[in-house]
Amino acid sequence: MSPPLRAEFVVSADRVEALQPTAAEVAVVGRSNVGKSSLLNALCGRKRLAHTSGTPGRTRLLNQFALERGGTLVDCPGYGYAKVPESMRRSWQAMIETYLLEREGLTMVVVLVDGAVGPTALDRQLLDWLRANEVPHTVVATKADKVKSSKRTRRRRELAEGCDLEVGDVVWVSATTGEGIDRLRSLLLSWVAAAR
Ligand code: GDP
Repeated sequence: MSPPLRAEFVVSADRVEALQPTAAEVAVVGRSNVGKSSLLNALCGRKRLAHTSGTPGRTRLLNQFALERGGTLVDCPGYGYAKVPESMRRSWQAMIETYLLEREGLTMVVVLVDGAVGPTALDRQLLDWLRANEVPHTVVATKADKVKSSKRTRRRRELAEGCDLEVGDVVWVSATTGEGIDRLRSLLLSWVAAAR
C-alpha cells in the first residue's frame, strides 16, 4: 500500500484569483453526497482534511490544498443541491466554470460519479461540458463496496456506457474498504508530476 498523500490546507477561495498560483493542480468535482469528502480523507489518510460539510460556508468555496510531493489539489463545491435558490446555484456554476476554463496550471479534473447510483443527468451534463471545452478529466466511481459482486461486471459496464466511456477508463474506488485508493493516489501523483 502506498503511504497517504500529505496535504496542507492552503486557502478557501470564492473566486479563481484568490487561489495560490500552482504549477500543477488537480480539481475534484462531484454532486453533493457523492462521497467527495470521504474520498479526499481516504487519499490523504486523515479524518478532517476535507471536512467541509460541517462548515456550511466552505462548501461553496474552492478549497485548495498543497501536496507535499508538489502540486495542488482543489476541492470544488458540490453541485446539484436540490434546495438552493436558482440564483445561488447559477452563481456557483459560473464560478466553477470560470475556474475550470481559466485556471492556470489545471492538469486534471476528477469527476466523481456515485458507483451505486450511476451518472445522474447533472453528471452527464458536466461531462458533456468538459468534453465540449476540451478540459482534461477522469471519471472516478465512488462507493464501489455498495455494488454486490454478482452485479459488479454489469454495473461497471453500465456506468461506463452512461458516461460514454470504455469500462477501463473509469477508476473505481471505495473510501470504506480502501479499494482503488492506492491506484487513484498514484494517478494523482502522475498528473501533478507530468506538469512539472
Ligand atoms: P460529499 O457530500 O460528496 O462530501 O459526500 P460524503 O463523503 O459526505 O459522503 C456522503 C455519504 O456517502 C456519507 O453517508 C458517507 O458515509 C457515504 N460514503 C462515502 N463514501 C463511501 C464509500 O466508499 N462507501 C460507502 N458505502 N459509503 C460511502
